[in-house]
Amino acid sequence: MALARLAKIPLELQFLTSKNLDPFDLLALSHVSKYWRAFVLSDKRWAEWLKLIVSASGESLEECLTRFNLLDTFAARSLVYVCLGETCTACEYYAPQIFLPQMKRVCDTCLQRDQYAVIPLSGALAKYDLRERDLDGLLVLEWLDPKRKSKRPVKVISEALAKQVAVRRYGSAELLAAHLERKKTSAKSAYSERSEAWRVRAALEEKGNIEAAAAVAPPGTGRKIPKAFPMYPPILGQASTRPVERRVVCFEPLGLLVVGSEVVVEPCGAE
Ligand SMILES: [Zn+2]
Repeated sequence: MALARLAKIPLELQFLTSKNLDPFDLLALSHVSKYWRAFVLSDKRWAEWLKLIVSASGESLEECLTRFNLLDTFAARSLVYVCLGETCTACEYYAPQIFLPQMKRVCDTCLQRDQYAVIPLSGALAKYDLRERDLDGLLVLEWLDPKRKSKRPVKVISEALAKQVAVRRYGSAELLAAHLERKKTSAKSAYSERSEAWRVRAALEEKGNIEAAAAVAPPGTGRKIPKAFPMYPPILGQASTRPVERRVVCFEPLGLLVVGSEVVVEPCGAE
C-alpha cells in the first residue's frame, strides 16, 4: 500500500526515497507497477553493485562473465538480480549457483534435467536445422574448454532454448520432428551417393584411367566431385552435439548484504 502511494509523491522526493533503498528494496519496488519498474531500472547503482560482486568474488565472476561474454549481453541490474536470489527457479530449494546459459538459479538436482542440457552452438544448428540468425537474442556463451588444445572458445548454448526456437519455427514439436526426419533421410542418401561417386572416381584414378575418372559425376547433380572425401552431414553427426558438462557453465556468486545503510558483499567463510 505504502509503495502504491509512492507514485503520488513529488518526483524529487521519489528520487530521494529511492536513494535510501538497497538492492533488495529496489527489487521489491520494481514489482509494484510499470512506472516503478522503469524508475528502479534507471538507478545507476546496479552497475556499482555488480562491481562489488565482481571484485569480491575475485577472478571467478569477472573471468566467468568476460569469458562467457556476459557483461556485454546482460544489463548490470539483471546480473545483480540473479546474484541476489538464492532459490532454484524450478523447485525453490536453495541453489548456490547460477546456470549461465539461461541466467537462472538452478540447484544441483534440477540441473540434471533435460531442460538444462548444454551443447555447442554448431551442434544445435545442425541438430535442429537452424541458422545462426534464428538464434538471435539467445544467450551464446563462449567457453574455453581446458581439455582442447585450441585457444579458440567454443560457443555453447542451452539446448532447450534452441529447440524452443526450432519448434516455433516449424509450428509444433511434431512438425519439427517430421521436418528433421525428412532432412536426415535426404542427407543420408545424398551422402551415400556422393561418397560412392568419390570412391568410383578414386578407383579409376588409381588405375590410371584419368579420362573415365573425370567423367564420373554424382548422380543428378552434374557438379564435379570434390577432391576431398565428402563431409559427413552435420545433421547426422554426433560429435558436434556432444553435451557440455553443465557445471562448467554455472557460476557461484557471493551474495550482497545490507549492513547498516551500506550494501556490502557477504563475507565468505573463515579464511
Ligand atoms: Zn531445483
